[in-house]
Amino acid sequence: MTDIVLETRGITKSFGSLCASDGISIDLQAGEIHAVIGPNGAGKSTLIHQICGGLRPDAGQVLLQGQDVTALPTAARARKGLGRTFQISALAMEDSVLENVMLGALGASGRPWRFFVPVMGDRTLRDRATAALERVGLQDALHSRTAALSHGQRRQLEVAVALTLDPRAFVMDEPMAGLGAEGSKTLTGFLDGLRDQAPILLVEHDMDAVFALADRISVLVYGRIIATGTVDEIRRDPAVREAYLGDPA
Ligand code: ADP
Ligand code: MG
Repeated sequence: MTDIVLETRGITKSFGSLCASDGISIDLQAGEIHAVIGPNGAGKSTLIHQICGGLRPDAGQVLLQGQDVTALPTAARARKGLGRTFQISALAMEDSVLENVMLGALGASGRPWRFFVPVMGDRTLRDRATAALERVGLQDALHSRTAALSHGQRRQLEVAVALTLDPRAFVMDEPMAGLGAEGSKTLTGFLDGLRDQAPILLVEHDMDAVFALADRISVLVYGRIIATGTVDEIRRDPAVREAYLGDPA
């Protein structure tokens, strides 16, 4: 029996006459990294937004640990264990690394932190944030300005924010974007270890990272999954080679 943590069933979403998600069913199992690849405009980000709650599907369901979360807003899904890594722009560059995790944790949980003025004095929150930063290897940077971190370290910081809510599944949209070769390699090693914490649904363009990390790959083209399989199966699949990997089959 498989242990499905996160699942979509027949997710459909149109923008006018364009069908960006055309009945997408995909699942994420315990312990795995499931990569979603596909050309620009295939609908990868649209899928991720519907999983995370920023966009409501026209039809279909999103299930987290067997529970239908399709109608829930983003923060409620985060509280139920959907660990989404946020955009870089969500980090306050002038604030310290620790402050970003504490404020980010409150923001992600949907608690109205503006009204809890002495947030930084919240012992429990501080301990949780410190533990999360230790887990991502940023324990020596607690009091550094966030602006002083490398791009790769900022991605780790985003993961630390997600970790404070004890996620059951991670969802990431192109975490390697903007990193150089060295940064991608470091982040690849980091994500490899993170799968023990929770499985990862990983949208990624960097094929070196995808081939190094993925237990399974799904290929999305024009809003449809045309193949799902292991790295070897996907590399060999003639339809995938023709549609995406640029091979005239
Ligand atoms: P990917 O992430 O795979 O590059 P997207 O999910 O961003 O693809 O986009 C899929 C398609 O949907 C594209 O053709 C894009 O232009 C379109 N699209 C995405 N978001 C919107 C939107 N909010 N309104 C209209 N069209 C959109
Ligand atoms: Mg995208």
